[in-house]
Amino acid sequence: MNAATATTEGFWGHSPEVPLDLADLTDAQAAGIVARLHDRTTGAFADAAARTGYCSHPIRLQGTSTTIDAATGEVLSQFSSTDAPLGTLYRACGNRRESVCPACSRVYARDTFEMIRAGLLGGKTVPDAVADNPLVFATLTAPSFGHVHGTGGKHGGGRCRPHRTGVCPHGRPRSCTAQHSDADPLVGGPLCEACYDWHSAVVWQWHAPELWRRFTIGLRRQVADRLGVPEPALRDVASVQFAKVAEYQLRGLVHFHALIRLDGPDGPGSSAPLDGEVLAQVAKDAARSVVVTAPPVDGGDVPRVLRFGKQLDVRCVRSGVPDNDDGTDDLRPEQVAGYLAKYSTKSTGTDAGDSRPHHQRLVRTCRWLAERARTACRGLAGPDPEDDDGCLCGQCADSPYRLLTKWAHMLGFRGHFSSKSRRYSIPLGRLRRARARFQKLKADADRDGTPMDTADLENRLLADDEDTTLVIGHWAYAGTGWTNPGDKALADAAAARAREYAQWRAARR
Ligand SMILES: [Zn+2]
Ligand SMILES: [Zn+2]
Ligand SMILES: [Zn+2]
Repeated sequence: MNAATATTEGFWGHSPEVPLDLADLTDAQAAGIVARLHDRTTGAFADAAARTGYCSHPIRLQGTSTTIDAATGEVLSQFSSTDAPLGTLYRACGNRRESVCPACSRVYARDTFEMIRAGLLGGKTVPDAVADNPLVFATLTAPSFGHVHGTGGKHGGGRCRPHRTGVCPHGRPRSCTAQHSDADPLVGGPLCEACYDWHSAVVWQWHAPELWRRFTIGLRRQVADRLGVPEPALRDVASVQFAKVAEYQLRGLVHFHALIRLDGPDGPGSSAPLDGEVLAQVAKDAARSVVVTAPPVDGGDVPRVLRFGKQLDVRCVRSGVPDNDDGTDDLRPEQVAGYLAKYSTKSTGTDAGDSRPHHQRLVRTCRWLAERARTACRGLAGPDPEDDDGCLCGQCADSPYRLLTKWAHMLGFRGHFSSKSRRYSIPLGRLRRARARFQKLKADADRDGTPMDTADLENRLLADDEDTTLVIGHWAYAGTGWTNPGDKALADAAAARAREYAQWRAARR
């Protein structure tokens, strides 16, 4: 596609000599690009794509917006989608998942990185002194629901489960001598489908957010215990702050990765009354003692006592004691921020292109349990005439598991993928607003041909002041995605190059 690469050179920023990688264009994509060359809309498209940050599936909007001075009512500016480069306003989809939108997920990962890093080392409205607060990195895992294929541990010489003997009650071997790679769809799946406790796995995943919530409550309680104060008085001596990310493992169950920071009574950066080693021990105890009792799905089911898995990994990243440098020398704060940012964009594994048979089985188990919950009274009360899938008994209608259908594609996980306590760091929303302000300043500067005023720039961007302008918009949703098949190919290629360029630049630093 020489014609396309030739004309798009220069539009995409960094290094005009490097053409976009468009080696795998389909005929439809190539025809789409040629059509843009013919009707001379390549420039308008490049403009629209740049404004979305090269999003794969932007949202298309049609309508107008009017910016008004809130104090005087004066109309400051008006914008109509017909003024936009392609006659339609394209907004980035903002999807977190890398497999859905590489460009938007990178923005998400970058913001998550900045948010987590500021909580570790300060900056972006967080006092620099937080860099001296004790810090713990904890991974809370899911328990085992049966033996699964793996990539082999230290003792197996890279082989899956070579040392087991015998067969399970279904006649299947308990061992596997294969050398699986991560990409092998078997990995994470059970050695015997019939032995694996799919039901409990889904019930655990469904309650995982509650386990996490109780862990944070238990942690605060145990810190208060350690300090010998009643829990309501904890705030007078210390404050526990965290950032956490949920990550799907290959077996389809989530792990929580969390950074836990202990601050003193005067907020982030004030001196903490426990060191990182003690904080790690307290976090370990809190994770071990948290339980949730899950109600039965129906009359034929049993309650389940749910816990985190035994493989807790809780490490002191920073002791917070002057001159007693860092707790775990193989973990650097920036590295941890990098891990968490990367985890935050990972998928469930149920996306197209990486669908493992055992994930599909978990999806079916979610639906099956929802159906059981819906008919828990076994139809004794009769169907609700007002509600298609309701039941008159009241018990079925109240069952939390009825909603499992809605979360089946998430393998039963309905929690947040990334969250933080209020004072851990700057909120992601504020970073997003700062980016929008920066883009506006840059666009203004480009248009007027004036250099951007960089004095005190970060503080101005991050200011949380009340907006003095009011934007009144009338927008209608016109669809999702680029309308020309060539557009998506170009946007993806440009996003890929931006990513490579950023990596190249990072490697040179
Ligand atoms: Zn996107
Ligand atoms: Zn195996
Ligand atoms: Zn079996």
